[in-house]
Amino acid sequence: MKDLNWYFPKSIAEAVDLVQQGKIFPHAGGTGLLSRGFTGINGLVDLSRLPLHYSKIENDSVEIGSMNTYAEAVSVLMKVDPEHILVKSLRNSANTPLRNRITIGGSIAYFPPWSDLMSALLALDADVMLIGENDGQFPVEEYVNDKDVRDKSLIIAVKFNLSNWRSYHYRDIRTKSDYPAFNITILLKQSLNKIEDCRVIIVGTGKKYSRLTNIEKYLINRDVGKINIEEIEKLVEVKFAGKRIDDPEYSSYLAGVELGRGVEQILRGH
Ligand SMILES: Cc1cc2nc3c(=O)[nH]c(=O)nc-3n(C[C@H](O)[C@H](O)[C@H](O)COP(=O)(O)OP(=O)(O)OC[C@H]3O[C@@H](n4cnc5c(N)ncnc54)[C@H](O)[C@@H]3O)c2cc1C
Repeated sequence: MKDLNWYFPKSIAEAVDLVQQGKIFPHAGGTGLLSRGFTGINGLVDLSRLPLHYSKIENDSVEIGSMNTYAEAVSVLMKVDPEHILVKSLRNSANTPLRNRITIGGSIAYFPPWSDLMSALLALDADVMLIGENDGQFPVEEYVNDKDVRDKSLIIAVKFNLSNWRSYHYRDIRTKSDYPAFNITILLKQSLNKIEDCRVIIVGTGKKYSRLTNIEKYLINRDVGKINIEEIEKLVEVKFAGKRIDDPEYSSYLAGVELGRGVEQILRGH
């Protein structure tokens, strides 16, 4: 194995200088780097001494520094909204030691197909705050889809607004310690008997993630009494692919069933 240079910057500016050199990667929780391997990496920048371990909640805006772990992000949100979608999606992720290690920033940058974080962040229309080659605030979706935005930039924080979404999260696992084959986030706003707004994201599909706009269209402005769960299940047409998916057709069927159950659960209010 080749030697890796480790860097221990004490300021964000120092870390950014290193990351911009290329082939020098940030090290956050280290859990993704270990599974990825070190091909193409000449050095690692330890982020643990940087002031990225903060959280801010002002009015309805939440900002979570990139070095917060899954467990810490859950604690922050529990104080303001115990029913928040990120509480639901992260509190059962992986296992306790890993939730104390996996960071928010590392998980956005790495975005594995089993991510419990990303379906919620995409549904929330969250932003990432970057510094480096690209400075500023970018939609998470743009960060995910545009390599030029990601390249040689450090994630400082993730930002989103608190809103009165009713939410549901499903992880498709066979055993408690399994990586999810896919996971589903549903956000829904209801006023009186009508669905006002809705977001549906599945992470783990062949395209890595899919936004189910046809389900959103079916639900938005629909009278709650006229929602037919079987129709929703039939509208789910997601393509699964890859080694982790034994039977893509079965996974697609399962996603439909679980999505229907999710909508039903939100409408019942528990
Ligand atoms: C056994 C196991 C089970 C797991 N199960 C789940 C699960 O069920 N659900 C789930 O959501 N996750 C799970 N994970 C975690 C997931 O697979 C990744 O390992 C994790 O999201 C990476 O986060 P990290 O903080 O460890 O990042 P690192 O490993 O430190 O970094 C990952 C990548 O992101 C880059 N990076 C890190 N921080 C930044 C930053 N601030 N700015 C820019 N780039 C950065 C690194 O250079 C690297 O390329 C599991 C991991 C393991 C090992």
